[in-house]
Amino acid sequence: MRRLSSPAVATRVGVIAKRVGNPVGTPGWKWACGFYPGSDPADHARGIAETFDQARGAFEAACHVFLAKRTEVDFEVYRRDRAFHAWKRAMWAKGLQLPTQVADGRAVCFCGAAIGIDDMNVHIWAAHMEAETT
Ligand SMILES: [Zn+2]
Repeated sequence: MRRLSSPAVATRVGVIAKRVGNPVGTPGWKWACGFYPGSDPADHARGIAETFDQARGAFEAACHVFLAKRTEVDFEVYRRDRAFHAWKRAMWAKGLQLPTQVADGRAVCFCGAAIGIDDMNVHIWAAHMEAETT
């Protein structure tokens, strides 16, 4: 499986992968282009192909159309959502509760910062939004 990203923003926009478990004689590759949140799922595209090169060609054509409809805000929505979920998993991995899980709405981040329901997202985006890599 190869994860493909938009080089301009280093956001993963899709995937090309070998199909597994499909009947013999059916196309061996699949591809998908799109991300959520930050775009309408109706704008996403996917397909199957006989070869990797065919899948890549179809993928690149679909992503060209998909990316032409995206704005920087779309990518920011997606990156912030990814950052929130990564932060949430890190909190849980350390046995910490989120502000939304405690009665008074206040908690301590794994970095030591005091956070509340109202400033949780701002803290995550400022302190824990990872640099995207391809
Ligand atoms: Zn923190």
